[in-house]
Amino acid sequence: MSKRDYYEVLGVGKSASKDEIKKAYRKLSKKYHPDINKEAGADEKFKEVKEAYETLSDDQKRAHYDQFGHTDPNQGFGGGDFGGFGFDDIFSSIFGGGARRRDPNAPRQGADLQYTMTLSFEEAAFGKETTIEIPREETCETCSGSGAKPGTKPETCSHCGGSGQLNMEQSTPFGKVVNRRVCHYCNGTGKQIKHKCSTCGGTGKVKKRKKINVTIPAGVDDGQQLRVAGQGEPGINGGPSGDLFVVFRVQEHEFFERDGDDIYCEMPLTFAQAALGDEIEVPTLHGKVKLKVPAGTQTGTKFRLKGKGVANVRGYGQGDQHIVVRVVTPTNLTENQKNILREFAEVSGNMPDEQEMSFFDKVKRAFKGD
Ligand SMILES: [Zn+2]
Ligand SMILES: [Zn+2]
Repeated sequence: MSKRDYYEVLGVGKSASKDEIKKAYRKLSKKYHPDINKEAGADEKFKEVKEAYETLSDDQKRAHYDQFGHTDPNQGFGGGDFGGFGFDDIFSSIFGGGARRRDPNAPRQGADLQYTMTLSFEEAAFGKETTIEIPREETCETCSGSGAKPGTKPETCSHCGGSGQLNMEQSTPFGKVVNRRVCHYCNGTGKQIKHKCSTCGGTGKVKKRKKINVTIPAGVDDGQQLRVAGQGEPGINGGPSGDLFVVFRVQEHEFFERDGDDIYCEMPLTFAQAALGDEIEVPTLHGKVKLKVPAGTQTGTKFRLKGKGVANVRGYGQGDQHIVVRVVTPTNLTENQKNILREFAEVSGNMPDEQEMSFFDKVKRAFKGD
């Protein structure tokens, strides 16, 4: 499960500009969005694209990535491989290296767990404290995890002598070959339990639903995950517990759109407001804010409300809110309104102002071909 190169994921070159990266991201995230694309694997693709964008859209993270590749500079956050398997782990379990195979009594870390949490747009922006219930295996209290009936002890496996492995001799044309196999009498544990604990049936573990308090930091985004250290499954032979990974799914908002720490929204303006200027009320996550729209505002004009975005999840300040105004052409005019507009058209001679004139001149010239 090695990771694809982030540039490759977004289909851009190493020297791509921020704009190109953003465009590629917008296109791909739409294509693979789980609400739109129901094909198998679209969700994974979406996560991959999101993760690539999160890194490449941030100057600092991009520089780090260009230099070091796939590493996680912030431990707790980021889109690491779920389950916490790095290449090394896979390597050692395939090839049987490492102490864990040779000594069944060596401490081993418990398995990591994953939990998906759906958050509203606001919950993600402001964070919250919550309790989740996780079904997980826990050490059996009756036998303290030994699997043996209280008052008895697991005994060393008489077949493998406690090593958990058996030597099997095989004759081949080249002589005798000794194969090491997992001892099937004790399943590699090196122990035999004569009197099994009745609570756990000899496994030493019981399934329980465990309540865990989770503090979701303000500013988490869709696809990010939070590592809650030590809340995975318990370790074996006294090893450390695994970790719990909480993966966030953030719901879309009715009229806000989020891009990193910034929020985008569109505001309609009447023709009169745009032409004459006005002070309008704009919704933000932090309440209503007054915005001065200057006279002569064109449709598509952007305004920025500094600090009205989402808190950066790593504590690097606060994003902004961007407002794009859309001038709405009036419909269903009354006769009176039409007359006023006709009068207006007559007075202004239907002529665009100077700036627009030069634009129309350019258009004309372009069509003439010189
Ligand atoms: Zn037990
Ligand atoms: Zn054995």
